Amino acid sequence: MINFIVLPFLFLCTHLFSSSLQPPASIPEQPRKYATKNVVILVIDGVRYSDSWGDPTFSNIPRMAKHLAAKGVFHPQFYNKGVTLTNPGHVALTTGHHQMIENDGSELPGQPSIFHYYRQHTGAPAKAAWVITSKDKLEILARTNSTSPAAAFAPSVNCGIKGLGTGYRDDTTTIRISKQVLARHKPKLVLINLREPDSEAHAGNWNGYIKAIRQSDRLVYDFWNWLQKNPHYKNTTTLLVTNDHGRHEGNRFENHGDKCEGCRHISLLALGPDVKAGTRATRERSQVDVAATTAELLGFKLPNQEGEPMLELFKTTSTARK
Ligand SMILES: [Zn+2]
Ligand SMILES: [Zn+2]
Repeated sequence: MINFIVLPFLFLCTHLFSSSLQPPASIPEQPRKYATKNVVILVIDGVRYSDSWGDPTFSNIPRMAKHLAAKGVFHPQFYNKGVTLTNPGHVALTTGHHQMIENDGSELPGQPSIFHYYRQHTGAPAKAAWVITSKDKLEILARTNSTSPAAAFAPSVNCGIKGLGTGYRDDTTTIRISKQVLARHKPKLVLINLREPDSEAHAGNWNGYIKAIRQSDRLVYDFWNWLQKNPHYKNTTTLLVTNDHGRHEGNRFENHGDKCEGCRHISLLALGPDVKAGTRATRERSQVDVAATTAELLGFKLPNQEGEPMLELFKTTSTARK
């Protein structure tokens, strides 16, 4: 009998107590404001940390390490925490999910990507989001076998020689096409893949691998300067330069794909109007956080993801979006 009297009383007490701890529902949390209006993710395929940012002389990436890092945030604790192969690494970056996806382009991502959700949220046309890659097999990043309504909002593609199944092309061609696409269509969300360091390493050509890293360094520097000369992209574009995976440690540079430090440890350089320029990030992060961060900067939701926005990269009192 006592329970019938005591329980409602207890419920009332806990309810009142918990209500007093909650913020009033009438004051919603303010979303952060960013000056960023465009995000470009540039992935350099298969560069080992020890051959790039982990080398204290930065001999293979002088432009990124000396000129660009001073304007951006460099992340020394950035990882591939899934399968250390090209397609799985890229899919983690674009969907925010770790998926054991086939590496040959024969399997589609199970989740819609940042491109799909961006278009669904904004109503932007397909030309507002692009996947531009040296490797044709990365055309799968624009597709998904998800049954989510977001799956209908695929981005535009320009991959490999002439799309999926037609082979790889040179990185200089990919950067040239990227500039043409940006100049013509003014997309707000773009992924670019450069493949040559990975290809040269698989061929067992150490000198070719180093040369390809140095070429990537020049291409990234040139591309950033091109963005800053373009009135549409200048001061409104965040560029995230990262990798899909590293390579085995020591003299086993030819291949990759396991969980060794060489394969997992990659890099992230963030440039743009909202970053804390000239700083180094300290909190360990991984590829799925790139998808979350992109959604945060462009103001759309990325449902059911594994990552979280890397808010620590950005100024807290950011230039308000006008
Ligand atoms: Zn590879
Ligand atoms: Zn390895």
